[in-house]
Amino acid sequence: MKVWSHFYPSLDVQLASDYTGGTEGLCKMADQMKKPDDILMSSVAFMAEDVLCLAPEGSRVFLPFAIIKAGKEFFRPRCPMVIDQGRSAVITEDILSDEINGVYINAPAYLKAHPKIDFIYNSSLAIEIFTDLEKDADRIHLYGDENVNMFISYMLKRKVKSHPEGCVCPTHNRIDLEDVKTIYDAACKGYGAENVGILIHGENRPETLRWGIEKGALISGTGGMYREVEKGEKCAYVIATEEGLVSRIKHDFPDKKILPVLAHCPNMKTITLEHLRLSKKRIKEGRVGARAVMDRTKPPYYTVEVVDEKCCVERDGCDILPTPIEIVIPDDIREVAAERLRDMLYHAAGQGLGE
Ligand code: SF4
Repeated sequence: MKVWSHFYPSLDVQLASDYTGGTEGLCKMADQMKKPDDILMSSVAFMAEDVLCLAPEGSRVFLPFAIIKAGKEFFRPRCPMVIDQGRSAVITEDILSDEINGVYINAPAYLKAHPKIDFIYNSSLAIEIFTDLEKDADRIHLYGDENVNMFISYMLKRKVKSHPEGCVCPTHNRIDLEDVKTIYDAACKGYGAENVGILIHGENRPETLRWGIEKGALISGTGGMYREVEKGEKCAYVIATEEGLVSRIKHDFPDKKILPVLAHCPNMKTITLEHLRLSKKRIKEGRVGARAVMDRTKPPYYTVEVVDEKCCVERDGCDILPTPIEIVIPDDIREVAAERLRDMLYHAAGQGLGE
């Protein structure tokens, strides 16, 4: 069994993991596995889904902990953007266009595998696709983070058809440009503008992204931001993203001055070191609290089956808290989602915005 973590859970969870990465890095790790294995993922659910789709047949993927509301709805750890996509009638009322449809990497596997979806994107792939399909570019619809879609529109200098309206990452969308500017000004006074790098996650608000582009910032996902500090060209970095990545960068690069504009994702912090420890022990003993089986036919798109009541706790008579929970995806969804994820991973320019 391997323990993998995204960069956003707390630092102690990341450091207790065998591998930590951004979504793209986690997907590539899964795709490069030589034989099936059990993977305990500290992340939100869609990342665990992507890893399960890409890992060799026979692999099992678990989340260390989940909150199942009212005994049915898989509530956390799920990215609210995904829930928004799921409830926004994209599936239920079939609002996907009859033209060319791309879905953002932060989406559930059933949407990634939907027959009307043509590609999965992060920013670089979307930009490549628009360039490749120049004559069809007006027919492309992007389903996902509105801020990322606006960034793509800004970079391409063309209107982008963005859906669903108001679908953003609440964590990054709360970051205020004035706070970023204040920290940047202080950093320039302290270290000299030429020595200060700016790293901005692509899910920030459009005004922050535009300001960043003007200042020569790296607009990226988590993996790209981490690699930029690793390259180490500047002595100080202003970083506008979730605090988990900032903690990891400070830990791994103690000689760099890290000046963060912090954001907090409660979904990524659902999993604690204790959940991780207990889940590892139980998986080794062959025990699972519950199974979340993806079901695209009805909201909330997971059917939850309690497997071992002794691994579950009930809260207030309506929430079930299983440790661990296994993610199960039907083969037809897995296969199509994996094929489209591979297209994204190996066609994108490598510094995608997805998480
Ligand atoms: S940081 Fe934003 S996009 Fe990432 S899991 Fe949290 S809410 Fe979703």
